[in-house]
Amino acid sequence: MPLDEYAAKRHFENTPEPPPGKKKSKSAANPYICVQRHDATRLHYDFRLEIDGVLKSWAVPKGPSLDPAVKHFAAHVEDHPIDYGGFEGNIPAGNYGAGSVMLWDRGTFELLGDARGAEQIARGDLKFHLDGEKLKGDFALVHMKGRGKGNEWLLIKKRDDFASPGWDVEEHAYSVLSGRTQEEIARNLPARKTKRKTAGASDRVWQSDRPAKKTAAAAAKPATAAVKSAPRKKKRTLTSGA
Ligand code: MN
Repeated sequence: MPLDEYAAKRHFENTPEPPPGKKKSKSAANPYICVQRHDATRLHYDFRLEIDGVLKSWAVPKGPSLDPAVKHFAAHVEDHPIDYGGFEGNIPAGNYGAGSVMLWDRGTFELLGDARGAEQIARGDLKFHLDGEKLKGDFALVHMKGRGKGNEWLLIKKRDDFASPGWDVEEHAYSVLSGRTQEEIARNLPARKTKRKTAGASDRVWQSDRPAKKTAAAAAKPATAAVKSAPRKKKRTLTSGA
């Protein structure tokens, strides 16, 4: 059973993470992909692709990148249930992976080439076209054979129209589900009422859902408006979880 390891590591009465077994594939069309930003013992990103009814998973300490010059280490880890792909929240202290989990990106992907996903993973060279809210374009996960424990892979962006040299994952550290930062998730704060524009990889400006108010009070407070539209500072301090 592919989800035995996932289930064995967790006590579902103590964690809000979904138990295996309920949901199968979400759609018959393109399979689901998601990336979770996980502030556990060490901050990392969990990269998950729906293949054969589960989420095949890699833990990427430095996160994915749209920069094709970057090859980030990705540890192949245990399969996760499809339901995990919508998970955001806090894994309580004392549990496996304790810390906050952000749904950092989500979307669909198409395998490249004729081989099935399981075959591509078995041969150690998985290629796919990704259509996420932040990540887009062609990617490869490549197994580094003959190394260490055997779970060492690299996550690589292919050169295409979506490639973005110098792209910094930490400039996009907000949830696609709730708009929250990692700290806001950790503190169980409610979802933001504003949404990010995610069309462009370099776009990091908050966009309000509400129509702009041009009241006398707003006009009298230009400083407030300026603060709201200013780009937020990067936070790289959330490295200690459990
Ligand atoms: Mn993780």
